Order: sequence, then C-alpha cells, then structure tokens
Amino acid sequence: MFKKTTLSLALLGATTIANADVLTTVKPLGFIASAITDGVTNTQVLLPTSASPHDYSLKPSDVEKLQSANLVVWVGEEMESFLEKSVDNLAKEKVLTLEDVEEIKHIVEHTKEEKEEHHDHDHKHEHKHEHKHDHKHEHKHNGHDHDHDEDWHIWLSPVASEKIAEQIAMRLSQQMPEQKAKIEENLANFKVALNTKSAEIAKQFENVKEKGYYTFHDAYGYFEKTYGLNSLGSFTINPTIAPGAKTLNAIKKNIAKNKAVCLFAEPQFTPKVIESLSKGTSAKVGQLDPLGAKVELGKDAYPQFLQYLADQFSECLAK
Ligand SMILES: [Zn+2]
Repeated sequence: MFKKTTLSLALLGATTIANADVLTTVKPLGFIASAITDGVTNTQVLLPTSASPHDYSLKPSDVEKLQSANLVVWVGEEMESFLEKSVDNLAKEKVLTLEDVEEIKHIVEHTKEEKEEHHDHDHKHEHKHEHKHDHKHEHKHNGHDHDHDEDWHIWLSPVASEKIAEQIAMRLSQQMPEQKAKIEENLANFKVALNTKSAEIAKQFENVKEKGYYTFHDAYGYFEKTYGLNSLGSFTINPTIAPGAKTLNAIKKNIAKNKAVCLFAEPQFTPKVIESLSKGTSAKVGQLDPLGAKVELGKDAYPQFLQYLADQFSECLAK
C-alpha cells in the first residue's frame, strides 16, 4: 500500500520506523491485522489458502518475506511447526507469538478443560480430571510435539480474535507511536463490527442449530461453541493424517444413528472418503473453508470471513 521512499524516510527521521509491514501466517490472521493496519501500513499473508498450516513447508521467498516484515504474526509452534526455526532467527520485537499471549492461552486452556470434563461425565472415565496429564495426549508429528486437546485454530474464535486484534494494535502502536490514535480507532471499529456480525450470525443459525454434521478436521470447535452448532465429530484431528478404517466405520454407523445432515469437506484437502461415506446415506456433502480463500484483506475482512463460514455451514445444514 505505502511504498517506502527515500523522501518519506528522510521526512520521518531516524527515530520512527516507517512502513511497518505486518506479515501473518494464515489468511484469517491477515483479516484481523488488515483491520488494525487500515490507513496505517499494509498487511501481507504468508501462506496461500490452498496450503494448510498443518503441513506447510517454507519456500526461500517466504524466508525473505519473514526477514523484511516489521511484525510477524503467527499462532505458534503447536499450529505452525514449519515456522519455528525461522522465527527463532528473527528479532524478538518483530514477532508476535499468539500462543504466548496470556489471555489467548487462557481461552485455549479453559476450552480444553471444559472438553475434558464433558468427556469424563459422558463416558464415565476412570481417571479423574487432572491438570498434569497432558503428556498422555501428545503425539509426535514431524518430530514436533502436539497436544491435540488444545485447539489452536484460534482465528475461528470471535473472542480470541478480539484478543488477537488487541495484541496487534499494541505491538503496532509501540513500533509507530505517531499512529497510535489511528490504530486505537481501528481497534475500536473492529470490535464493533465483530460484535455486530456475531449477533447476526447467531440469528442466522437459529433454525439449523439442532442439525447434526461431521467436519473433515477438528478445526471449528470455537466457532461451533460460540454459535451452539451441533457437531457430531470430525474425521481426523490432524488433517494430514488420513482417517483409519475403524474411524470411518464408526462414522458410517453414526451418520445413520445420529441423523447427520451434512459432511463437511475442505478446499485444503481432497477427502475422497467423504464422498464415499455420503453414498448410501442421506447426508449431504458441504464445504467449509477455515482459511477464507474467497475473502479479501481489508478493514471489514474478518466479519466477512465469519459470514462466509456461517453461510457455508447454513447452506448445507438448511437444505
Ligand atoms: Zn487445522
């Protein structure tokens, strides 16, 4: 948006960081950032929407982008292990790791505990809820540890997204103190737009809330919880690992038993299994795009993204 020129640099003087380009990993983080940077600086997104953060690998041009950005916004190694090493090489003040933000951590851990308590009640598990049994749920992928009970798809949580916006605003204001007023105004506008949209979506779902469905990967927990949707489960926790025959059989039985209305696929993965599962059942196949491929960056992008996702849900569920 704003091209760096010798002239503007000279005018601004050495004390100011001009042109603080914000670079986010996934596009929805870019939706949030572009609301905060509106009229201040520009926002760029690292990952193409055809790629999944679960199995991305960096290209040399990505490394260049990371190095030239003034603020890199990423979820963290739980979600984006491909970035761990590159981020370590960047100056600390240039990186916003959302995983390390207390308020966001709190949302994720609280949700995880709720899930575990639910689990214990529903299935009368032997073990009592303990805070220190995390290691039992850890699996290794590509040499990295992942706690699968923690859901780091935080850009699908309107509440977490508000915190993300606050963090970006804070960091940007530190880098560009002369723009603080504009950044604060952008943040306030973002919050209003987000809450207005969220209320609209809650209304939109009123008639489809009861309808059961399966998703391809376990990414939508925050969105589902926010709007009270009736998810029956997902095919896989990590979408890079294909569901096994056992899982598929169980789902096949459950589609009929639970009267699942929809099976949701995703553009980032080509799940042949979903098509084959829908055959012989009354469940329809829908699409959910957790990365908002069709939404463009801009100050209203995040509410538009929520609406885009809401429409994808209700289009299939309402049929
Ligand atoms: Zn995911």
